[in-house]
Amino acid sequence: LLSLEGATVRFGGRPVLDAVDLGVVEHEIVCVLGPSGSGKSTLLRAVAGLQPLDSGRVLLDGRDQSGVPAHKRGVGLMFQDHQLFPQRDVAGNVAFGLRMHGASRQQQDARVGELLDLVGLPGAARRAVAGLSGGEQQRVALARALAPRPRLLMLDEPLGQLDRSLRERLVVELRELFGVLGTTVLAVTHDQGEAFALADRVVVMRDGRIAQSGTPLEVWQHPADEFVARFLGFDN
Ligand code: ATP
Ligand code: MG
Repeated sequence: LLSLEGATVRFGGRPVLDAVDLGVVEHEIVCVLGPSGSGKSTLLRAVAGLQPLDSGRVLLDGRDQSGVPAHKRGVGLMFQDHQLFPQRDVAGNVAFGLRMHGASRQQQDARVGELLDLVGLPGAARRAVAGLSGGEQQRVALARALAPRPRLLMLDEPLGQLDRSLRERLVVELRELFGVLGTTVLAVTHDQGEAFALADRVVVMRDGRIAQSGTPLEVWQHPADEFVARFLGFDN
């Protein structure tokens, strides 16, 4: 479904993505792990079309996406700080991508109701975003990203603002939800517990490169090098 070939992004001469090769197959859930500044968000932005590459390619279904604008790529991105529109109610936020794709008012309302049920916020359509808890806001952001039925859903720290018990519950719910919908997911987190619970495959990034890619069990049992081992919390 997705492949990156030698994807490189530089800021001020410094490579933030350094010749990254990565493939994601249909229905796969891939979690990108790595320390702050390792290039995780830049990777997602590059796939979404929000960050041009300095070299290399992003392919979706084998088609080169250079020059294809973000809204025509058929991918959804839930941002790190979720960026809800505070002046719009829940429905206005969730329907955002639908409006852009020219859905009628009725289609929008039906889809919004369906999505709010899906993320566990039934009946919340007319609530003000500002009055929602952090966890509820994150669910709204997730519903917004799912609304246009993206073939690839990308999540940047989807549970970032939440406390541990809520995160643990939501991770299980998310995995179930993606299974039911058959969604292909590329998610970023710096929390390894979350990655291991959610992912079919874990990708560990370091300084713009992929330090290791494997199933959670492989990465856990056989860290590729000392960096990965340290990052996972092994002392030696
Ligand atoms: P975090 O876990 O803190 O979210 P990250 O892995 O998502 O980190 P990125 O946001 O991808 O990291 O940033 C990687 C590096 O690129 C950082 O050093 C950051 O300062 C730098 N960077 C990101 N965006 C820009 C930009 N628009 N201009 C200049 N430097 C940038
Ligand atoms: Mg980030």
